[in-house]
Amino acid sequence: MQPTSDSLHLGNYLGALVNWVGLQEEFDAYYFVADLHALTVPTDPEVLRRRTRTTAAQFIAGGVDPETSAVFCQSHVTAHAELGWVMNCLTGFGEAGRMTQFKDKTARGQSANVGLFTYPMLMAADILMYDAAYVPVGEDQRQHLEITRDLAERFNTRFGDTLVVPEPYIVKESAKIMDLQDPTAKMSKTGSSPKGLIDLMEDPARIAKNIRSAVTDTDAEVRYDPEGKPGVSNLLAIHSVLSGTPVTEVAEAFAGRGYGDLKKEVAEVVLAALEPFQQRMRELLDDPAELDRILADGASRAAEVADATMARVRDAVGLLPAAR
Ligand code: AMP
Repeated sequence: MQPTSDSLHLGNYLGALVNWVGLQEEFDAYYFVADLHALTVPTDPEVLRRRTRTTAAQFIAGGVDPETSAVFCQSHVTAHAELGWVMNCLTGFGEAGRMTQFKDKTARGQSANVGLFTYPMLMAADILMYDAAYVPVGEDQRQHLEITRDLAERFNTRFGDTLVVPEPYIVKESAKIMDLQDPTAKMSKTGSSPKGLIDLMEDPARIAKNIRSAVTDTDAEVRYDPEGKPGVSNLLAIHSVLSGTPVTEVAEAFAGRGYGDLKKEVAEVVLAALEPFQQRMRELLDDPAELDRILADGASRAAEVADATMARVRDAVGLLPAAR
């Protein structure tokens, strides 16, 4: 995740972070704050530093265990930039130009630097660095994973078997959380209005208020039907993921009751989850030295694997071994 905001929102939490927490039990996981990727958008240095720490702290407060998984800053493992360069040199200019995310962003008038253009090659390096078997990605990242696979295969064909070709790992039933005011659109930092969004660091009273004023519909029946009843279904989905209850069961429990009851209980469930999260965030942010120690430890564990990959890559392409 990029350190592009001061707070993740409920969509990031339920759509991504909760899955990360689940995956770390089964897999050897690497979770980093993508601070190098964040440089593709000009940001004030002080703001970038603050957001990098906050984003890392949110991984941990959300349940990623830095003892189990490596939690670190991308820029602290310098091999990311090195392998990114090698990936750039394997990519055709036209091939990079066909990446839809770059095309979409520039079409929307976002001024583009070369870093944004070569973003997928750095992302390929991020993945290939750790001999990743799987990458938990959403649909929107599928094309970037495809180019990662292409680059790994191209590298192996040209230089001999060196890199592991990763598979996408589309997380089953990953929740998609919608804007509370416009439940046909995804909850998003840039697209949602303040009332449509639930920031994880928001004041609890304000969160409860946003849930109480969520858009529903005019008939009063609580039923899970994302097409016909997007607002009500979004509230049911939020409840379901946080309470660990199948969404149809949550809906049945509210049969014959009004939207007011549903909103009240969703607010309770959300606040019960966020209270310990916010408490842990306060502890982590109050002790930046400890947070930096956790990140340094994560980086040194990640660097062991990354340096070994870079040594193989150097040898394969003909760069002399680096004596450090
Ligand atoms: P972003 O900051 O939009 O790049 O998102 C970071 C992560 O959160 C990605 O894995 C997204 O797929 C996920 N995410 C963002 N918004 C939502 C949402 N409304 N519902 C579910 N997942 C989301």
